[in-house]
Amino acid sequence: MSARTRNLIVVGQGAAGLAAALSVAEQARRSTTPIAITLVDKAAEHEAGGNTLWSPANIRMASIDRVEPNFVRDVFSAMNSRGEKAYFARLAAEAPATVAWLAAQGIDFIQPPYYLAKGPPRIQPVGGGPAIVKALKRAAAQAGVAFRYGCAARQLVTDHERIVGVAIQQADVSETLSADAVLLACGGFQGNGEMMRRQFGPGAETMRLISPGTRFNTGEGIEMALAIGAAREGDWNGMHAEPVDPRAKSPAPVVLVYPYGIVVDRDGRRFFDEGAGLMHDTWEWLARNIHFSQPGATAYAILDSRLFGIANYQRAIRSEVPPARADTLAELAQLMGIDADGLAGTIALYNAACVGDANLFDATCSDGLAANATLKPPKSNWARAINVPPYLAFPLVGAIAYTFGGLATDTAARVLRSGAPLPGLYAAGEITGHYFVAAPNAVSVLRALVFGRIAGHSVVQDLAR
Ligand SMILES: Cc1cc2nc3c(=O)[nH]c(=O)nc-3n(C[C@H](O)[C@H](O)[C@H](O)COP(=O)(O)OP(=O)(O)OC[C@H]3O[C@@H](n4cnc5c(N)ncnc54)[C@H](O)[C@@H]3O)c2cc1C
Repeated sequence: MSARTRNLIVVGQGAAGLAAALSVAEQARRSTTPIAITLVDKAAEHEAGGNTLWSPANIRMASIDRVEPNFVRDVFSAMNSRGEKAYFARLAAEAPATVAWLAAQGIDFIQPPYYLAKGPPRIQPVGGGPAIVKALKRAAAQAGVAFRYGCAARQLVTDHERIVGVAIQQADVSETLSADAVLLACGGFQGNGEMMRRQFGPGAETMRLISPGTRFNTGEGIEMALAIGAAREGDWNGMHAEPVDPRAKSPAPVVLVYPYGIVVDRDGRRFFDEGAGLMHDTWEWLARNIHFSQPGATAYAILDSRLFGIANYQRAIRSEVPPARADTLAELAQLMGIDADGLAGTIALYNAACVGDANLFDATCSDGLAANATLKPPKSNWARAINVPPYLAFPLVGAIAYTFGGLATDTAARVLRSGAPLPGLYAAGEITGHYFVAAPNAVSVLRALVFGRIAGHSVVQDLAR
């Protein structure tokens, strides 16, 4: 007698959902338990792919077959040693096999330069996130996965505590898809103004979204799972955000040269140590501070013509709009709407404190070129006077990429309820709550892929029982 066909519904066509769907489809071909896989995504086909579709997809690996020996320790220290070490240890252990699996789908990898900084080492798929979506989608379709677009998951249906279906809405039609297993891979809640406001306070709902794909992640997956008792995890006060140029029309127009100059508010005042670390050490804090604490939710990076002497400086500017430039600080202040006296006073104090040897300046690492102790707030690296016109300014606003708070999962990507796996429910990627304090750099795409694939193995194993 042949086994009954089981149904798996995958929610979300980003890196996590595609990796899971393909992994199940590949294994199901060899299994005695037939599994019908349907991937639903709320976006139209050409937009489905969420953040993955707009991501350069830098992956924190030393090479395609190796993570750095200190991977877990470094990731953990970026998060102030909070979170679950076993999750990141599994990530490190499975990363090489997952990347080899991607390469077998026809994805090539390079070792890219990373803005201006030297480390940590990274690999990147040629074509970035879109190449991941394209290759995995093609392979999944060939392996028999059915896709439904414009199809939003709304609710998990249970019977005696077990998942039996997913209520979906596609155009005007609402229906329940029967399911023996559901894999949630539909991202965080940054696109949901109401949830953003609830977690981060007034004004959070107006925070700019960093890419067009970011808006689709509206927390429905999280809420559906919480409604049936799933546990919350991760830092619900955490988000990944970066400073971008509000004048730009291009996606993710980040401006990451600010450590090499100063950042001021509308009154021309500095408000943090711009040289506290490489840009990925300060970008989250800065973007949040600008949005929630600065007048007009805007700040200004101020530099001078020495920017043009920094090798490859353009790599750290993704805005298509050139900086405002002026021969005097007073003109620059006027162009940007900054208080001119405030800016002049700030730069005078700053320049007077830049007493180190400017020849030590090195944009690629923390160069130790600190301003002297008279400067408040301090500037710990890259402290060169701003006195070589033309003077330059970029306006900066904070833009969110994703939230940290999400579902608790074990190292097999099973969603947890009261400390035990919730039968039939799996989750991977941004929807899971494993980040605290600050997002570990270049880990998000990797964890979506690795735990998507792991979720696939768990589904096949559990359905075969
Ligand atoms: C501009 C940018 C740059 C980035 N750079 C990097 C980087 O260099 N390295 C790195 O590691 N990370 C980076 N990230 C983060 C990384 O890309 C994401 O964390 C990761 O791709 C998320 O994958 P995911 O599969 O979890 O979610 P997503 O890729 O966001 O996919 C979620 C999918 O779920 C769908 N969905 C949402 N709700 C529903 C619903 N109710 N029903 C059906 N479908 C739904 C969405 O439409 C979407 O297609 C970047 C992100 C952005 C935006």
